[in-house]
Amino acid sequence: MKQYDYLIVGAGLYGAVAAHELTKKGKSCLVIDRRDHIAGNVYTEEIEGINVHKYGAHIFHTSNKEIWDYINQFAEFNNYINSPVAIYKDELYNLPFNMNTFSKMWNIKTPQEAKDMIAKQVAETGITEPKNLEEQALSLGGKDVYEKLIKGYTEKQWGRDCKDLPAFIIKRLPFRFTYNNNYFNDRYQGIPIGGYTAIVEKMLEGCEVRTGVDFFEFRKENPDIADQIIFTGMIDEYFQYKLGALEYRMVRFETEVLDCENYQGNAVVNYTAREVPYTRIIEHKHFEFGTQPKTVISREYSSEWTVGKEPYYPVNNEKNDALFAEYQKLAAEEKNIHFGGRLGNYKYYDMDKVIEAALQAVAEL
Ligand code: UDP
Repeated sequence: MKQYDYLIVGAGLYGAVAAHELTKKGKSCLVIDRRDHIAGNVYTEEIEGINVHKYGAHIFHTSNKEIWDYINQFAEFNNYINSPVAIYKDELYNLPFNMNTFSKMWNIKTPQEAKDMIAKQVAETGITEPKNLEEQALSLGGKDVYEKLIKGYTEKQWGRDCKDLPAFIIKRLPFRFTYNNNYFNDRYQGIPIGGYTAIVEKMLEGCEVRTGVDFFEFRKENPDIADQIIFTGMIDEYFQYKLGALEYRMVRFETEVLDCENYQGNAVVNYTAREVPYTRIIEHKHFEFGTQPKTVISREYSSEWTVGKEPYYPVNNEKNDALFAEYQKLAAEEKNIHFGGRLGNYKYYDMDKVIEAALQAVAEL
């Protein structure tokens, strides 16, 4: 006996949007998650009155008005604009790469001076058609920017040489010749007032949700519980890694409550030197202009994902993308199941793209 129209595996953003939309259409949904809480990696938890991003900082940004309007149904957003700073040894730079960065790096003032300096450094590299992240970064910003702000950070975050990483990763960041420290080029941006967990809670209103439930165990006992499955876990795990394991990066957080009001003066400070073991320190209160007497900070350490740990980032290089394509063929042969989200689609999605993909999938289902 089928008890539900849909079994949705994973209560993260993809699963929650799908569950919300399907419930709205009158479908019955059961949402399960193996963690003991909802909201996946956008989960926030209040500590000392501050919404702490427990699985890494999430700043909502999009250029798609429909998606902006969609997410605004579930929360009001503040006017936070992400403007990280980077610390390299004893030097401090604004991000993303902009006139503030270049001015500090080369003691120059005008866009023309910055362009000339970069053009000179790019010419010295001799790269005309960038084939990997290193060549892409060098050809956008020259040697100084690459060596001080990109190389160490990227190799820490990805655990791979910049020559072995795809160029698209660095194209996520703006490179601009204005004094504009906004990390994103998107039209809309902000942090939800009240945190992300509250958004996902609202999305899941009216659906049955069970946390602390492992799909693979659950399925053994309940093989026919739903007509269809929406699976947002790791696609290779679903197929018991039978074609081999895809690679993921994981992040470990060292979170501390500090008895001071303001530790670093900014929500995001990147440590771009190779010698510093963490990639960045997040001071959560600054995402919401907090004025609490204490503060909460998280140091982020990246490492290769291993079985049993939480995966965060797919490593979308040629080898993994090719293996993923093979898994997709298996997925296409599977009946009544749809794969979605960062792990199901093995894609370095931002939140807006996750929502877009979930809405699209529900429309197609
Ligand atoms: N990056 C860098 N230096 C920085 C910040 C980012 O080289 O100070 C590069 C790095 O390769 C990273 C990529 O830009 O993986 C994308 O950064 P983003 O901030 O978008 O990563 P996320 O917040 O998704 O971890």
